Amino acid sequence: MADITLEAFEQQAREFLDANAERRTPAKTFVWGEGSDNVSMFEERSESAEKEQLVLAKAWRQKKFDAGFGWISGPAEFGGSALPAAYERAYGAMESRYRVPSQSFFGIGLGMVAPTILAHATDTAKDAYLRAMWRADIVGCQLFSEPGAGSDLASLQMKALRDGDEWVLTGQKVWTSGAHYSDIGEVIARTDPNLPKHKGLTGFIVDMHAPGIEIRPLRQMTGGANFNEVFFNDVRVPDDHRLGDVNNGWNVALTTLMNERASIGAGDSGGSAASGMLTRVIAMVRHYGLDTDPIVRNKLADLVVGYRVAEYNNARALAKMRAGQLPGPEMSISKMALVNNQRKLNEFLVLALGPRLQADTGEWGTWAWHELVLGAPGLRIAGGSDEVMRNIVGERVLGLPKEPGIDSKSPFSELKVGTQK
Ligand SMILES: Cc1cc2nc3c(=O)[nH]c(=O)nc-3n(C[C@H](O)[C@H](O)[C@H](O)COP(=O)(O)OP(=O)(O)OC[C@H]3O[C@@H](n4cnc5c(N)ncnc54)[C@H](O)[C@@H]3O)c2cc1C
Repeated sequence: MADITLEAFEQQAREFLDANAERRTPAKTFVWGEGSDNVSMFEERSESAEKEQLVLAKAWRQKKFDAGFGWISGPAEFGGSALPAAYERAYGAMESRYRVPSQSFFGIGLGMVAPTILAHATDTAKDAYLRAMWRADIVGCQLFSEPGAGSDLASLQMKALRDGDEWVLTGQKVWTSGAHYSDIGEVIARTDPNLPKHKGLTGFIVDMHAPGIEIRPLRQMTGGANFNEVFFNDVRVPDDHRLGDVNNGWNVALTTLMNERASIGAGDSGGSAASGMLTRVIAMVRHYGLDTDPIVRNKLADLVVGYRVAEYNNARALAKMRAGQLPGPEMSISKMALVNNQRKLNEFLVLALGPRLQADTGEWGTWAWHELVLGAPGLRIAGGSDEVMRNIVGERVLGLPKEPGIDSKSPFSELKVGTQK
């Protein structure tokens, strides 16, 4: 495919999609009370439904990978089609016009873990995992957070001790999304407790089916169980599964986190999903005769403006990425915009629906919103909490003085008690 024109590529993509997927009917005007009223943030599905959906999701990804559309801009040596990023975007825009199984299972693996493997792994690991991940033969997860290390990730305590050509990992991770259906995970562990905390860390790729790994689901208040605690009891990892140099794990983690913010921020703060949501909200307002209420009108206008501004900000950040620049601190603004818009949407839903949001009366389009409202606080934390994002924007975008960190010396520590005159 390497020297194909964009037009010829689009023609091939259209033929592939027409032959293998059903075209979506042109979006008709949303009608309140028709179709599904599901607006959940996390996909709340039973274990068996999740398994079925994973099979369908993998089958679709495998089919499109085999046709050359699975990793369009990836390097040919690791299974990609080596085409410019514009071709990837063109395919994405075309595929969105067809009904295909949800690909949410692969968001963390392909959005965060695979780019880190490409940037930091040995050739052995790149050969073993990149093609397999992009073809969905395997799924990846991110094992960073621990009970005592979230925002302050560098405090993590999981130990990795060298034993010949292997490392032995011991400790606990938490909030690992999708660990229960993942085959590999990216782990950051402490390899030298005597170095300053950011310097004694190393990244690894682990086999999630290896002996010594125990995965326990955590149920969230929305009802689903998307996260897990993952215990490592002397888990052996070959040295060629190390990511980057020994004790350079902080840089490895930063590669993953930059990609995480880019994928969360660029997701839905503006975009078509957000405008679909607003269409639904406006229909609800009309349905309940609230469209003449001046307070409701005012708050709704505020909501629409917030989503539109986020959309333009995303377009700016994405343009930088398309020009070949790495996702930078401005992605933190996109993430904050997403969270802020979601918070305003929640307040609006409480105002507009009132008690209908509190109890399931069976009425279409009322109680269904509770899953979105209860899921939203998770967004304030995932991929860096609000407070941490504000610190990043303050320091790295606005150039404000650095916030005193957890390890900063207190200005009072220099004072010697009892000797002050
Ligand atoms: C939906 C979701 C999915 C997730 N998926 C994964 C995953 O797949 N893999 C993974 O490894 N982790 C995952 N996490 C965990 C996530 O990365 C952590 O929850 C996050 O880093 C915050 O850490 P913490 O929960 O330990 O909170 P803490 O870091 O303990 O923060 C507690 C509070 O203190 C505030 N705070 C902390 N530091 C500062 C500071 N310097 N200045 C001001 N305020 C501060 C925070 O804003 C927060 O309000 C997920 C979390 C969520 C919600």
